[in-house]
Amino acid sequence: MTGRMSSNAVIEISGAGPAGLAAALAARAAGQHALVYEKRGDVGGRFHGDFQGLENWTTRDDVLDELASLGIDAGFEHIPIHDIVCFDYKGTGKSFRSRQPLFYLVRRGAQPGSLDLALKQQALEKGVEIRFNTPASRLPDGGVVTEGPHRADAIAAGYLFDTDMADGIYAAVSDYLAPKGYAYLLINQGRGTLATCLFDDFHNERQYLERCAAFFDDKIGVRMDNPRRFGGSGNFSLPRLARKGNILYAGEAAGFQDPLFGFGIRWALLSGAAAGQALAKGDPRRYVRLWKRRLRPYHQAAATNRWFYDRLGNRGYSLTLRRFPKEGDVRDWVHRAYAPRLWKRAWYHLVVSRREIPLLNLHEDCDCTWCRCKRHMQAAGN
Ligand SMILES: Cc1cc2nc3c(=O)[nH]c(=O)nc-3n(C[C@H](O)[C@H](O)[C@H](O)COP(=O)(O)OP(=O)(O)OC[C@H]3O[C@@H](n4cnc5c(N)ncnc54)[C@H](O)[C@@H]3O)c2cc1C
Repeated sequence: MTGRMSSNAVIEISGAGPAGLAAALAARAAGQHALVYEKRGDVGGRFHGDFQGLENWTTRDDVLDELASLGIDAGFEHIPIHDIVCFDYKGTGKSFRSRQPLFYLVRRGAQPGSLDLALKQQALEKGVEIRFNTPASRLPDGGVVTEGPHRADAIAAGYLFDTDMADGIYAAVSDYLAPKGYAYLLINQGRGTLATCLFDDFHNERQYLERCAAFFDDKIGVRMDNPRRFGGSGNFSLPRLARKGNILYAGEAAGFQDPLFGFGIRWALLSGAAAGQALAKGDPRRYVRLWKRRLRPYHQAAATNRWFYDRLGNRGYSLTLRRFPKEGDVRDWVHRAYAPRLWKRAWYHLVVSRREIPLLNLHEDCDCTWCRCKRHMQAAGN
């Protein structure tokens, strides 16, 4: 795949997560064939039916409209969330409201109604070919790498369960429950997800999870039927280009995920669609321009937020919560906190130059989807 592609070219994609399926849909919309390799037996294999939030605060416009403009149907269950209760380390809770949804609750995994299954169905209907149980390790003709995380910058551990509790969305910011991260309890229509999302001390995840379960039980009274453990990790390290030749990296494989709190679904869908579109047009450089314009400013702002958040500690989280408006709209507040600013960009460059935020290293001289060939090490004489 060099230069401009022929009208019959096949765009190869490694990984059938949201980024990979968005890339395939974009390639099909541009009239190209799309072939997706997925190492697991179905989509959503990294997840287990847990609730996640599709963020709706980085832009003023609704995320579902943005997805529609990229040709992605919201055919998955998506529950608009307007109300959230946040607790600080003392257990003091505060309720917040937003007029427009702060985020949409979606389910991950291969169950009916999940984001992953709906994307798969849409892709198959549009003529995308998906080869399951087929891991890709090289893309000699170029393509899109959307294999998810290869590093753990943060981890989550939690329980999924059935429940007769009333619907509700709860979060807690306390280093006792989730060092430098947050804990959450999401209940909707008889299903629940309770988790701790850690940015430090991963080793003790089990202990933090049990503390979270006890904390929310004390505050809300958690009733868990049939609890199942789940967990996962996230990658936020940004590459310089997200491209090596005709191989483009999208979604979490490229570190495209909110480094402050780990909201990556929207970024995966946007970057995947941009990568598929650029390759379909035979112009991989276009992808670099697209992600640098649409995603990089948000990544830099959120990475700067993360740098400060890492240093806040319990009292700092508590003070920040208190600064949230009592009567105002929480979505506006979060939107402003995530907005790219010049000073955040400058701060980001400063801390990257001091190696306090690592960059993802993609080696230019091989066609591995994830470098295993060690050619770069030989080239460096290692
Ligand atoms: C517990 C947890 C909770 C989260 N909560 C939220 C949330 O509330 N909101 C939010 O926005 N984000 C959340 N995230 C992050 C979000 O899930 C990810 O950002 C998103 O799934 C990234 O999509 P992706 O397509 O890049 O990668 P993935 O969803 O990881 O998909 C990658 C796919 O590639 C496949 N694959 C891997 N290697 C290969 C290979 N060599 N060949 C072929 N296939 C391969 C994998 O099997 C997988 O299907 C959470 C993550 C975790 C772990």
